[in-house]
Amino acid sequence: MSSHSLSSGILLGMAFFFSHAELGAQVTAPSTSPVIDTSTPKAEQAPALSKLSALGVEPDWSKLVVYAETMTKAQFESAWRDIYAEANAMPPPFQIKDTAITVPTGQTKSAQIIIPFLPNGEKAKTNPKPFWRRARDLPVLGKRPPLSDLVIAIDPGHIGGAYAAMEERLLSFKAGESIREGDLSLITAKILKERLVALGAVATLVRETSEPVTKKRPEDFQKEALSVLTDAGFPTPAPTYSGLTGDAKVLTVQWQSEKLFYRVSEIHARAERVNQQIKPDVVLCLHFNAEAWGDATSPQFSPQNHFHVLVNGCYAPVEMQQQDVRFQMLQRLLSRAHEEEIPLASAVAKGMSQVTGLPAYVYTTANARHAGENEYVYARNLLANRLYECPVVYLEPFVMNHEETYRRLLCEHFLGRTLIGGKLTTSAIEDYVRGIVKGLLSYYQTNRPS
Ligand SMILES: [Zn+2]
Repeated sequence: MSSHSLSSGILLGMAFFFSHAELGAQVTAPSTSPVIDTSTPKAEQAPALSKLSALGVEPDWSKLVVYAETMTKAQFESAWRDIYAEANAMPPPFQIKDTAITVPTGQTKSAQIIIPFLPNGEKAKTNPKPFWRRARDLPVLGKRPPLSDLVIAIDPGHIGGAYAAMEERLLSFKAGESIREGDLSLITAKILKERLVALGAVATLVRETSEPVTKKRPEDFQKEALSVLTDAGFPTPAPTYSGLTGDAKVLTVQWQSEKLFYRVSEIHARAERVNQQIKPDVVLCLHFNAEAWGDATSPQFSPQNHFHVLVNGCYAPVEMQQQDVRFQMLQRLLSRAHEEEIPLASAVAKGMSQVTGLPAYVYTTANARHAGENEYVYARNLLANRLYECPVVYLEPFVMNHEETYRRLLCEHFLGRTLIGGKLTTSAIEDYVRGIVKGLLSYYQTNRPS
């Protein structure tokens, strides 16, 4: 699952808005840079636009300088309008002028950054090279296995194991049996890795065990958790949630500090591994979806079963007010990650839908929008697909509390068919792996030089 669908809602929107004004501004851009404006910020815009996301750090805006005159105004506007903005876009917190965009940095020293557009009809003089490669830029394949040279990071969603209950990703309909999303994603990831390596790819797991990647633990975030609750208007929250449920549980220091650990700090640690060590051409984030199952001690089955794939986009105005989020969105847009990410996600979605036969999930909320032509592909601003600085295909197949799916997942991975609930059935995990492989093969065989 990618969202908080299992937990109650009060703080969901608020939990990520820390004020880190006390950290002070640091713009490390050289003062001679033509695109950094060192004027004083307008007093009224500085406070709102200087916020940081939870555990976020002040961005180095000078990193965007390399994108000066690499993208035309029309290219920028269509990416913003069709992918990165919400469907009913509010005006962005940056100005799109004829020759450049002007972005408030939220920092006090250099109030804004100006990124000039590539004039129409001109060829870009520079070509910023991110660490990832498009299919068309991979070496000629020749007679080698079809995914040769491709560097793939496989990110098994969540932590699982002893952390699954804390993550609210443990589901049990009967004493003595349970499924944990983090364990299922890891089993899937290991099998997927074998298949991809056999096809020539260099595949690495972002997490190899049911232990966190982050070195931090919930107790390290007590202060931040208290500040989240104070900012949300609850200055004297209960320290622990023992005996509490629903909103009362969410409004405790324990629940908030655990979430900062398993959601925010964990994804930051994985992002460092992806961006600094693995440097892949694509990240595959593996999840299993669920419908609301109510109280974890007496969960409910859902008649629904579905699938969708997420790409990065659909930034809410309130998210764009955070300086790190604003920077990361622009870095993604200007690096043209979407130009590879959306067609790749569409191909994987097609492979998955063919193998699993699952119908497309339909979002009814404003936090997601369709991206590209494939009905399974939606854009959402998730921490993982925003922080990983390369194309990310984020998969959400299967509803874990759909009864037949639950029983299939209890059987974990097997080949062929087995009798489940009186019906000969394939392994959901095997179908998951085959769907991804089918999609990747189709995409790279079509798009890389042969
Ligand atoms: Zn998940």
